[in-house]
Amino acid sequence: MGASLLWVAEDVGVPVPFTPPSFARKFTDDDLPHRGHTHFDHGYWWVEYGGELDTVKDKEAIRDELLAVMMGLWDHIKNQGRHGADNWVLKWFGWLPGHRESRRIVGDHLLTENDLMESRLFEDRVAHGGWPMDTHPPGGIYSDEPPSNYLHTPDIYSIPLRALYSKDLSNLFMAGRCVSATHMAMSSTRLAATGAAMGQAVGTAAAMCCARDCNPRDLVEHHIGDLQQRLLREDQYIIDLRADDPDDLAPSAAITASSEAEGCGGDKVTDGVTRFRHQNTHQWASDPRQTMPQWLELKLPETARIAEIHLTFDSGYSRPLTLTESDAFNARMIRGPQPETVADYVVEVGREGEWTEVVRETSNYLRKRVHAIDSTEAEGVRITVNRTNGDASARIYEVRLYA
Ligand SMILES: Cc1cc2nc3c(=O)[nH]c(=O)nc-3n(C[C@H](O)[C@H](O)[C@H](O)COP(=O)(O)OP(=O)(O)OC[C@H]3O[C@@H](n4cnc5c(N)ncnc54)[C@H](O)[C@@H]3O)c2cc1C
Repeated sequence: MGASLLWVAEDVGVPVPFTPPSFARKFTDDDLPHRGHTHFDHGYWWVEYGGELDTVKDKEAIRDELLAVMMGLWDHIKNQGRHGADNWVLKWFGWLPGHRESRRIVGDHLLTENDLMESRLFEDRVAHGGWPMDTHPPGGIYSDEPPSNYLHTPDIYSIPLRALYSKDLSNLFMAGRCVSATHMAMSSTRLAATGAAMGQAVGTAAAMCCARDCNPRDLVEHHIGDLQQRLLREDQYIIDLRADDPDDLAPSAAITASSEAEGCGGDKVTDGVTRFRHQNTHQWASDPRQTMPQWLELKLPETARIAEIHLTFDSGYSRPLTLTESDAFNARMIRGPQPETVADYVVEVGREGEWTEVVRETSNYLRKRVHAIDSTEAEGVRITVNRTNGDASARIYEVRLYA
């Protein structure tokens, strides 16, 4: 796959002429099959070139050609035919191409198309992906083929740690586009959020290697369970792997709630999963017909010392939230705290019928909160939600309690 240059453009309300530079390519509508160009706000990802060249050695040639293509396309939009772009101006455009594909490093496992299509659950899974395999023709903008081919996977898929370290260099981790994957698998794993999930996995794995004085491969052979549980504790999602942390006191607690929405009982906050999956919400949600405050109480089987309280809220993962210049995308997003997220809440610890406030939070917008409190003997913990950022239900995915 090739590289791309993008632009940002604006409708300034009055006609503005555009004179293309001498090096701009010429395009007619016939030259742009499958490449609709009816919105002008943030350029086109299919302004793509370089898939048949060396991404590294030919970098400048690719950049120059992309500039010529981009200017030629803007010339086409502004000056040829009725595109309705008379009032549009280029506000910004990139000079450094975004590269889709470059060198990859082979690990102990090479992630393949079959792994993704079969949704293989690797024993050493530490991250996941879900975008379809999304390959582009090597010819890019000059190809007659559609600019992208999607091969949808039946489900989200897991990524093993063995694909995230080199098989030859004993202490080298990878995350992002350079991981151990075939061209087809990489056409899905290259997505930004998937790269971030891999980054969290290898960052944590690297810290564990330092702490345990071992190499990446040793983690797979001897410490993979510890690594996975550490990742879950820090809100990494690992497919079909439940939290099982012996230090967490919350799973032993009896749980009651002020109210419950259907299918969202209080006991879900200790079921070890923090995402909606297979029709299971895996979260406590209060009855939306009840007004705030709503509360959730965890009663421990016996008095225990508590020094750290973890809360995982719902931050509306089914709605896009990203930095983008795309008007269409921005129209679907809520800029600011997501409605499902708990905003104002109080945490109390209980002993002998007395409740003591240990946390009071207002205007929260984060999904995961970790509250360190003065270590205290307690029989239980109560979380009272006073306000959400808009949703009628108080929603909590997970509560963890540590000494
Ligand atoms: C036009 C385009 C559109 C895309 N659209 C989407 C999209 O809509 N959604 C999506 O999820 N993904 C999209 N992608 C894919 C995604 O953006 C990339 O695959 C992803 O950002 C790659 O992440 P990375 O961390 O592997 O590499 P990069 O994001 O390239 O990060 C590598 C970093 O390393 C730095 N670096 C390089 N060499 C050195 C060095 N020697 N020392 C220090 N730092 C160095 C670089 O400056 C860079 O910041 C798109 C890609 C392109 C090109």
